[in-house]
Amino acid sequence: MWVFRRRSNDTARRSPALTSFLQFSSIETPGYVGFANLPNQVHRKSVKKGFEFTLMVVGESGLGKSTLVNSLFLTDLYPERIIPDAIEKQKQTVKLEASTVEIEERGVKLRLTVVDTPGFGDAIDNSNSFSAILEYIDEQYERFLRDESGLNRRNIVDNRIHCCFYFISPFGHGLKPLDVEFMKKLHSKVNIVPVIAKADCLTKKEILRLKCRIMQEIESHGIKIYPLPDCDSDEDEDYKEQVKQLKEAVPFAVCGANTLLEVKGKKVRGRLYPWGVVEVENPDHCDFIKLRTMLITHMQDLQEVTQEVHYENYRSDRLAKGIKGKENGIKQERENNVNAQTVANSALSEKDRILQEKEAELARMTEMLAQMQARMQAQH
Ligand code: GDP
Repeated sequence: MWVFRRRSNDTARRSPALTSFLQFSSIETPGYVGFANLPNQVHRKSVKKGFEFTLMVVGESGLGKSTLVNSLFLTDLYPERIIPDAIEKQKQTVKLEASTVEIEERGVKLRLTVVDTPGFGDAIDNSNSFSAILEYIDEQYERFLRDESGLNRRNIVDNRIHCCFYFISPFGHGLKPLDVEFMKKLHSKVNIVPVIAKADCLTKKEILRLKCRIMQEIESHGIKIYPLPDCDSDEDEDYKEQVKQLKEAVPFAVCGANTLLEVKGKKVRGRLYPWGVVEVENPDHCDFIKLRTMLITHMQDLQEVTQEVHYENYRSDRLAKGIKGKENGIKQERENNVNAQTVANSALSEKDRILQEKEAELARMTEMLAQMQARMQAQH
């Protein structure tokens, strides 16, 4: 059973009532996958170190990001959120909010941070939205890089973004130009997991068509999304089947809800419509469970890809820039020295010239003096 512990960290906003993101689920969904179900080896490692995981949610506002995050972690992560009106939205820049919770199950700790990016895509000029999000990701890498080369290496807090849920609107015919542009900027920095928001607005057929379209566009634009790793041949059949289903489900078509409803005597998380209930955790209704399973079972892999691919990219870029910076510095210094020498030389030659002039003048005056003396002697 997971127990929620609040962090006493001032930098992150804390949720007032996070129960556990598994507590309910084990009651509601028998097939639920928790940390205890991770392969033993991974589990042992995690017991020792504990998990630090950061999830970022990106997408236009109103697509249900906060609702989905709250549904995933069975908490209200954003209780104080005020929805801005249209005038505010126009000039609103992207405000990034990080909320951290600590969850513990059977001695395994998970420090989970969710970074929400409210307002993305709201403004008329969205160029700033991109840069604020990209800068945030880089800042986390930069901080890690600095901490890693510092004295207190063992106690680094890892705030790097390990996974980014990219929300795609269900109302379009695929990716919008803004999605393409942004995903291309994001893909070399984070693990992108694309999700179709508010999947309850689409029929099964429409979802399939949209998924196909999005995957085609992702491929044709050369966007690299997080690749679910292939199974080893000696993996058990159930696991292989699960990974196959997860791979086929990308982009996950999800819906979120924070209300518990009663359906056939059972409490379910769902959305009540005049014609019926959309059950968030019913695999026939949407891919919510698949998305959550993917997140839990691949948490370690998402961390490893972040460390080995994205962070390494950042680090080598940064070092190359550092070396280049140093080389430029040395070059500049050399140039400065040469310039100083030239200036000194020219100053020297200027002095010489003045000296020569003075000498010439002196010689002229001595000559004049000698002529005057000769004339005076002749008069006497
Ligand atoms: P955010 O701005 O992306 O964080 O969106 P919110 O989570 O605040 O949701 C915006 C609106 O969409 C709210 O009225 C939600 O109740 C509604 N909503 C959230 N999730 C879903 C969903 O899965 N399906 C539908 N139809 N509406 C949703």
